[in-house]
Amino acid sequence: MTIKNPVYLSLLPPVLPSPPMARKAPSRQAWRDAMLFAAAMSMLAPSPSHASEAPAATGQNIATLTDMTRLAQRCAGQDGVESWDMAVHPAKIHGRTYYVGTCGIAAILIDTDDGLVLIDAATQKGGPAVAASIRALGFDPANIRLLLTTHEHMDHAGGLALIQKLSGAPMLAMADAHSALSTGKPDTDDPQHDMLPDMDALRVDGALQDGVPLTFGQIGLTPYSTPVHTKGSTSYVWQSCVGEDDAVAANTPDARNNCVTIAFMDSLSTPAPAGYSFRQKPDQRRRIEAGLAKAAQISCTLLITPHPSASALMERMAGQNALVQEGACAHYVATAKVNFENRLAKEPE
Ligand SMILES: [Zn+2]
Repeated sequence: MTIKNPVYLSLLPPVLPSPPMARKAPSRQAWRDAMLFAAAMSMLAPSPSHASEAPAATGQNIATLTDMTRLAQRCAGQDGVESWDMAVHPAKIHGRTYYVGTCGIAAILIDTDDGLVLIDAATQKGGPAVAASIRALGFDPANIRLLLTTHEHMDHAGGLALIQKLSGAPMLAMADAHSALSTGKPDTDDPQHDMLPDMDALRVDGALQDGVPLTFGQIGLTPYSTPVHTKGSTSYVWQSCVGEDDAVAANTPDARNNCVTIAFMDSLSTPAPAGYSFRQKPDQRRRIEAGLAKAAQISCTLLITPHPSASALMERMAGQNALVQEGACAHYVATAKVNFENRLAKEPE
């Protein structure tokens, strides 16, 4: 594995020291070297060594299992539009991965050794709740160093403009998502175009490359283009490792293994207005079928979805089902494939 496109690296600002950690910001060259080293290291099995260190004063271990249960119990069964802006206390999902979204829309914060990464920020109205959740965990939104999104729709990317204002962080996205994100207007060729309100425009600083990992200290975050729900749809995969003393891990089946593969898989649904037929839109149909085939190649044990209800995330966080499941991603994609085939079967030719 090599970083094929070092353009990313120059887009990312050095980490700011966040008191009381007083971590010294590395020089750009040192930073680049560290990233390349980490990329090489990420070919090896993930090392849980950092888990035994004292938690850095960046919010780690502030969230507890109780937080996850409380969040899940409050939000279980809430997936209507009214839940998209609904503020809820944040929670640690696993290791250094946190849920900072609203009840109905996931936003995921990863506390890496080299700064915070945020994927999605709910709706524009939900953006302040996401910022508040980040602060409630003891982090400062100003220390976010990279913004990402699962797809270019207002219910997931709408809150990112506020976070970008607070953090100044660069945003990277698959090239096919750039137009909608940077104008705030849905693409005219998006089947959901007429169903979607506009959102605040974002500054998009560069393109993600399909399958090329972004490396932050020990965390390698790999974006995959999975163009099912939208043409810019992106799913992210990373390893999360914890120590045996981790409050959340102790209550999940992976406690003995210490490491799980997390996937924040994008929506795989294919909504369209009444009367729309993908059978009459061969380009759209090809995109979706190719996207489903791509998504089927992703494997994970801890699945997170932009709409938590799409993977019973709240119920899993509440402990009603296992949070960590072998084949979680495969099952999610297989279900979506059947749904799309059923939809096609009912559409006019
Ligand atoms: Zn959407």
